[in-house]
Amino acid sequence: MLTDNFGRKFYYLRLSITDVCNFSCNYCLPDGYQCDQPRDFLSLPEIKRIAKGFAQLGTEKIRVTGGEPSLRKDLPDIISACKETKGIKQVAITTNGYKLPEHLPSWLDAGIDAINISIDSLDPRQFHSITGHDKLPHILKGIDMALASGQPTVKVNTVLMREYNGYDIQTFLDWLKDTPITLRFIELMQTGDNKTFFDAQHVQGSRIRQNLILDGWLPAIRDRSSGPAQEFYHPDYAGRIGLIMPYSKDFCSTCNRLRVSSHGKLHLCLFTEEGLSLKDHIQHDDIEPLKQHIIEMMGDKKATHFLHEKLTGATTNLAMLGG
Ligand code: SAM
Ligand code: SF4
Repeated sequence: MLTDNFGRKFYYLRLSITDVCNFSCNYCLPDGYQCDQPRDFLSLPEIKRIAKGFAQLGTEKIRVTGGEPSLRKDLPDIISACKETKGIKQVAITTNGYKLPEHLPSWLDAGIDAINISIDSLDPRQFHSITGHDKLPHILKGIDMALASGQPTVKVNTVLMREYNGYDIQTFLDWLKDTPITLRFIELMQTGDNKTFFDAQHVQGSRIRQNLILDGWLPAIRDRSSGPAQEFYHPDYAGRIGLIMPYSKDFCSTCNRLRVSSHGKLHLCLFTEEGLSLKDHIQHDDIEPLKQHIIEMMGDKKATHFLHEKLTGATTNLAMLGG
């Protein structure tokens, strides 16, 4: 089992398969994707070896992310490959869902267990002003289809921003009354590129947490490969609410995840100074050296990120690593 110097165990791998994104979310890629590195993203054989290596070290869950992972034509093959890896119990994806109705059947065939879709506003005009795209109704249609299929767990990610949704979560609550999804409010994180935006828009999730508790929402129990959200349920609501509060005290103490970038670098934290290349060790089918290399690097994992000190490491935006 992969363990660090602080006794944390790592059951969960976030695997980025591309940096490219077709959206231009104001907090992430406000000027759209800029191609400033070769697009030598992980190949399917490399992905299979990474999945196998991590699974043999105790990883149970793989989340495929990006950039926008659904821009890769071989995404269904990537999902199947992760799913077929011995030891992997859950394969999930994080997507902007721009073609969710079209893509869903092939993801379901590939065996996807969970789909997280990013929706920062339920107002189509505001959605457009955040992402640069008019896709909200289409994405919502895809969510209905995913729910109707009865197969994957469906979650929605909503980044909290003062002027967009920070003070009005009622529309989201109304939606959750009858919609059996988990909606996770994510506190905006500062990255290398978004300092001014962050200073203007960051709001804390703790205020929402207090209001939820006052309104009768109850904390749900976490399992060992859960993401970082504190989840709440309410007897009058079909949906659940999650809060991801990276600036809260002790956020990092339950860290159970590692990240691999689409260029094959291991990131011990979302905000490390550098990724540690796995490339040399994923060129052949003998994965023992890869496993050894990963184990050796775990000693460098720090107890926390340094976001409170406004240190964002090498992470200029989250599209380069997948959030
Ligand atoms: N393109 C896909 C999507 O948007 O779902 C996957 C990649 S995106 C980087 C993963 C998640 O990170 C999304 O839910 C997005 O909203 C979130 N995210 C991006 N930048 C962020 C930031 N600065 N702070 C908090 N969350 C952020
Ligand atoms: Fe693209 Fe996702 Fe970043 Fe939006 S949050 S720009 S969809 S990578």
